[in-house]
Amino acid sequence: MHVLIAGGGIIGLSLAWQLVRQGAQVTVLEQGQPGSEASWAGAGIVPAARATKDASPEQRLAALSYRLHHEWAALLRQETGIDTGFHVCGGLYVAVAEEELPGLRQLLDHCRHQGLQAQWLSQEELARAEPALFPPGQSTGNVLAAVYVPEDVQLRNPWHLRALLSVCLQQGVRLLRGTPLLEVSETSGGTVCVQTPQGKLEGDCLCLCTGAWSGAVAERLGCRLPVEPVRGQIALLRLPRREFQPVVNLGPRYLVPRTDGRVLVGSTEERAGFDKRTTSQAVASLLEMAARLVPSLARAEVERCWAGLRPCTPDRRPCLGPVPGWRRVFVATGHFRGGVTLSPGTAQVMAELLLGRPPAVELEPFRVDRFGSSD
Ligand SMILES: Cc1cc2nc3c(=O)[nH]c(=O)nc-3n(C[C@H](O)[C@H](O)[C@H](O)COP(=O)(O)OP(=O)(O)OC[C@H]3O[C@@H](n4cnc5c(N)ncnc54)[C@H](O)[C@@H]3O)c2cc1C
Repeated sequence: MHVLIAGGGIIGLSLAWQLVRQGAQVTVLEQGQPGSEASWAGAGIVPAARATKDASPEQRLAALSYRLHHEWAALLRQETGIDTGFHVCGGLYVAVAEEELPGLRQLLDHCRHQGLQAQWLSQEELARAEPALFPPGQSTGNVLAAVYVPEDVQLRNPWHLRALLSVCLQQGVRLLRGTPLLEVSETSGGTVCVQTPQGKLEGDCLCLCTGAWSGAVAERLGCRLPVEPVRGQIALLRLPRREFQPVVNLGPRYLVPRTDGRVLVGSTEERAGFDKRTTSQAVASLLEMAARLVPSLARAEVERCWAGLRPCTPDRRPCLGPVPGWRRVFVATGHFRGGVTLSPGTAQVMAELLLGRPPAVELEPFRVDRFGSSD
């Protein structure tokens, strides 16, 4: 079985590894450099997830992924010697306004229903647990209360991608850099043929893992795939040492403390087409939020800012499955804010699908044709 994969981001590389481990021959076509787009830009937060009996397929995919992340981190280190920065750091979900408190209580109930450990922390309890969130020596500050989820995880995206790339190459994945997929056709002999500027490639099937570019790629196949780029900007700050342990989440924004004192501050959600520039307004609002949550960050060095393009579908759920009208073409994209989180589970279920086995998670809610065929 020879599988062609278009796109060498976290989804394409994770799938390539799973396929090659199961004996498939794999070729990855990447239009630029592998692991240099959204997957590189992301923050690497993996929220804890568990599936109860009544869990939705989406929750099952998250739970499968969460479990696999632990296995993968160990396996990648064993196979490549690369530390991916994977560690259980916990997550704090905080409220800074009275009207945010009901949402936080709902989150607590939701976590407990999922069978996760989760704890409500009053302002005083939080000040004792994480004093960096308060002005020096004070137990009152901007954060009113928090939910603490001890099993949340983080990893360092560039390190994780380096490990994935290394294991793929070690295990025989053929990687074609600077090779965009242009046209696709299916042959009467039961294969799929891909045209690139460097020539033609033939395989038994093709999986599109082309992230924010997937809409345009699918259009070439005559298929409607409403995947849009949503820009996320990040500022990387540096303190002399790590001052707090958990990832701190305020709605869709967050602070991710790395072990070396760096703190990643994210992120925006902007519809700016394929423009990956950072803007002064967005960076200023991230820095303001950071200093409001952790006062010492007002004095931190700003090391770098960047932006990445998340692949977003109208219902913010990924598309996983066959491309309508094609027998040998599949897609795995549209993971939006959860592509790192969901990458191992996605790789497992897509490998199962491509190799003709029943996927571990029901893929019906992720069908490509759920948006209809016209605008
Ligand atoms: C700022 C930011 C923070 C984030 N934080 C988190 C987080 O904390 N946790 C989390 O789970 N997720 C996070 N995400 C989301 C996550 O990064 C994405 O969902 C994920 O990276 C998508 O992976 P991908 O492989 O689909 O896309 P990409 O990494 O963009 O890869 C797609 C690849 O396809 C290639 N390609 C495109 N067209 C073609 C073509 N025609 N031929 C060949 N190759 C092609 C591209 O060059 C690219 O390399 C974040 C994203 C951003 C931007």
